[in-house]
Order: sequence, then structure tokens, then C-alpha cells
Amino acid sequence: MATEPSVAGPTTEEPTAEEPLVDGFGRVHRDLRISVTDRCDLRCDYCMPAEGLEWLDRSEILSFEEIERIATLCVRRLGVESIRLTGGEPTVRAGLVDLVARLAPLEVDLSLTTNGVRLRQLAAPLVSAGLRRINVSLDTLRRDRFERITRRDRLDDVLAGIEAAVESGLDPVKVNCVVVRGVNDDEVVDLARFGRDSGVTMRFIEYMPLDAQGRWDRPAVVGQDEIIAAISAVFPLEDEVRGRQPASRFRYLDGCGEVGVIPSVTEPFCGDCDRIRLTADGELRSCLFSTTGTDLRGVLRDPSADDDRLDALVRQVVAGKWAGHGISSVDFVRPRRSMSQIGG
Ligand code: SAM
Ligand code: SF4
Repeated sequence: MATEPSVAGPTTEEPTAEEPLVDGFGRVHRDLRISVTDRCDLRCDYCMPAEGLEWLDRSEILSFEEIERIATLCVRRLGVESIRLTGGEPTVRAGLVDLVARLAPLEVDLSLTTNGVRLRQLAAPLVSAGLRRINVSLDTLRRDRFERITRRDRLDDVLAGIEAAVESGLDPVKVNCVVVRGVNDDEVVDLARFGRDSGVTMRFIEYMPLDAQGRWDRPAVVGQDEIIAAISAVFPLEDEVRGRQPASRFRYLDGCGEVGVIPSVTEPFCGDCDRIRLTADGELRSCLFSTTGTDLRGVLRDPSADDDRLDALVRQVVAGKWAGHGISSVDFVRPRRSMSQIGG
């Protein structure tokens, strides 16, 4: 297993009483997304350019000790209840299984979002380390199309990875599909069928203006209503079930599970948002669409800064959270960082 450089930094001995992370609109934040790398082994067209991006230097990326310190603080002192590891592609970070093992004792809802390419090998070790559930991205079932979208011929690996995830007992296994008009919108029903047949929950994601190439365009977004209408015409669905999560969930009338949509563009769920995001280089952001981040890495690496300082900074970020991302507003400004540089 890879070892991480150790980082000096004082920690408080015992956690103080939990004070929830509440923003100016009364939203309590309980979900922390941690990006462990900005790198990736695919090049999805809606995310990255073919040549990749300018990667962070190794020294800029938070070590596992630093991630563990922030995660522990957020759980023990700030009331965070779920942690999702993401990226870039988290499985390209050496020692990911180690990181999961470090975070598992926090006993939160620990999950991972991955492109699935390396999951065949990693699913069982991740479960042994303490991972309980997983989201795998899959935008098409057609090999030529997969290669066109991701610029890599890895569909078989991803399908094997999804199978390994199910077999290793990860539950639920959710499969995320970004629907882009003219690219894969004709496959929504096939993907829904795939979910029903393979015992995974499909979640269709509306295309967001977070691609690195700035090509996002409103007409390319396939909205929730259109997605659900297409599926329901073949596999009838019950009305929406609302849970405490951003996905709108719809149950199949024949009892064959459910399907979800993340309608970030057509029906933003900002009013219920309980997420904060830590980028691979240690910026804390209160929204995917934040145009700035707050540097926690400098504090983590400052031997004179204690956990009270970190605590105050995290609270400050949450306190300053906007009411909503305003994608549909004329004043909307895209963040400079793309999805893979923030952590989706
Ligand atoms: N590499 C991993 C993966 O693909 O699952 C984790 C990181 S990826 C940035 C997280 C999620 O964001 C994936 O489900 C991906 O499909 C989605 N995503 C990337 N760019 C997007 C965009 N412009 N709009 C909507 N979703 C996007
Ligand atoms: Fe990589 Fe995930 Fe972005 Fe695709 S969506 S390029 S897999 S980070």
C-alpha cells in the first residue's frame, strides 16, 4: 500500500460537542464531498478536453493525513454524517483503499463515485476497508459510443466493475448517466432496462455547465420530464418519491426497483442542499457552482493552527453559502474550475 507523506498539525484531544453547520438560510450541512485527485483515466467529453487538464502537482494535493483530519473534524465537531470520495477519478489515487480504511472508523455513510474502470480489482478490497456503497458512471452501453464519449475503449472494464461492485456486496450500487442531447439521449430506456436487469439503480443526471471546454449549451440539456416520460412509456413509473437527497426518485410500477434523476438544471434542489466540497488541493466550496474556494490546506499545514481555526473556517464557508446556483439566471457566472477539478 502507498504511504502518504506525514503532515504536522495539531489536533484537539477530544471533540467538542457537535454544533451543526447551518447556513444563512437555515440549511444544515451534513454531507461532505472529498475530491482525492484531479486526475482521471478517462476523458469524458462533457467533463474534460482530450488532452486532459493542467494537473495539480503532488505537493499541492492533500495527504491522507490531512484529509483524515478534516473529515474527523467535520464529523466529530460539525455534524457531518456522510462522506463521499470523488475526483477526478478517485481510483487513480494510489492507496485509495488505505484512505477508506482510515475514514471507516468515523462510522458515517461512506461512499465513492468512480468511473468504474478499475473497480473489478478494487471492489472487494474497498468493501474490506469499510466502503458500503458506490456510484459508478456509465453513459452508454454501446462500445463505439463509449469510446467516443470517454475517448477510451474501456466499456468492458466498466461493466465488469459494476458487476464486481454488486458481487462484493456494495449496496446500493447506483449507476450515474449524464444525458446529453444528440449524444446518448436515445439510450435512456436501454440504460433503464440495464438497471432493472442488473440490480443497480440508474440515476440520470442533467448536463451542467461545468465542462472544462465551456461547450455546455442549454439546448443540450435533457430535462427530468423528458427522461421520465421516455422511461415511463416503456416501464411505467409511479409518481415521484422525495427523499433527503437531490435525486428525484421514481418507482417502477411492476416493483422492479426505482430510477432517479438529478435535475440540477430544470429543477434545482438548492433549497435542500446539505453539501460542502473539499477539492483535491484543499479548497472548501459550499456549492458546485461557487466561483471561489476557501483554502484549508494552508491552515492544515500551519503548525500553529489548531482545529478551532479549521472549525471556524468551515463554519464561515457554510455561513456564506448562496441561496442557489442560478444556472438559469442571466447573471450566472460559471466557476473557473470544471467538475473534475472541484469534485462531482
Ligand atoms: N470520475 C468519477 C466519475 O466519473 O464518476 C468521479 C468524478 S465525476 C466529475 C462525478 C460525476 O460528475 C460523474 O457522474 C460525471 O458523469 C459527472 N459529471 C461530469 N461532468 C458533468 C457535467 N458537465 N454535467 C453533469 N454531470 C457531470
Ligand atoms: Fe473522468 Fe469522471 Fe470527468 Fe469522466 S466524468 S473525465 S471519468 S472525472
